[in-house]
Amino acid sequence: MRLVLVGPPGAGKGTQAQFIAEHLSVPKISTGDIFRANVGQGTELGLLAKSYMDRGDLVPDDVTIDMVRNRLAEGDAAEGFLLDGFPRTVPQAQVLDDMLAEAGVKLDVVLELVVENDEVIRRLSGRRTCRTCNHIWHVEFDPPAEEGVCDLDGGELYQRDDDKPETIANRLEVYDKDTAPLVNYYAERGLLVGIDATGPVDDVTVRAIDALRPLQHGDDKRADDDGADKRSD
Ligand code: AMP
Ligand code: ZN
Repeated sequence: MRLVLVGPPGAGKGTQAQFIAEHLSVPKISTGDIFRANVGQGTELGLLAKSYMDRGDLVPDDVTIDMVRNRLAEGDAAEGFLLDGFPRTVPQAQVLDDMLAEAGVKLDVVLELVVENDEVIRRLSGRRTCRTCNHIWHVEFDPPAEEGVCDLDGGELYQRDDDKPETIANRLEVYDKDTAPLVNYYAERGLLVGIDATGPVDDVTVRAIDALRPLQHGDDKRADDDGADKRSD
């Protein structure tokens, strides 16, 4: 399955991406994680991306698209993938369509995590990321057993610069301006499935997996579905 996850910052994309990718046995490709890894390693790409990320702005499309093109060319993405954080602009979505068309494949579904703005702000400000494995915890909604320490590997938890209050407002603005139009782009193509992403993390995962289930079994049959779109809500 080839899947894209969209939703505002703080919708829980990273967390859900992890569970859904495991469930579907596809690699999770998170552009934010790849950028952060590059920043951590001080690569040329990391140096370039850092100033944009720290402000909560988008890294320029050409840089991001090259990075994703390289990642999708790796063998593990041949049979399917879950993209988390890409595309984030309509031009990125158009290039993704072209890349997939060149490979003779298509997206199966775009899953939108739907959350209101004030909820998003509460979530982002409480978020803590593991330095070792990038797992995302939340001081209020999903706390680790010991404060500041990752349950999975004992890694140190930190607050991303772009989860600090001054940056959150900008990230939300950027989302409304650049990324929200993607929702229409994919809705027009019949690919969009929206789920309520509020409430406990596990409940959201169940909703996500339920929403994807018809697609997992119906891959071959969808073409002769008589135009009936079982996925619309
Ligand atoms: P995320 O972890 O998905 O919130 O991404 C963190 C930051 O990485 C974003 O605020 C952007 O600065 C940058 N970034 C991640 N994905 C993209 C993308 N598809 N296009 C441009 N910038 C991105
Ligand atoms: Zn960890």
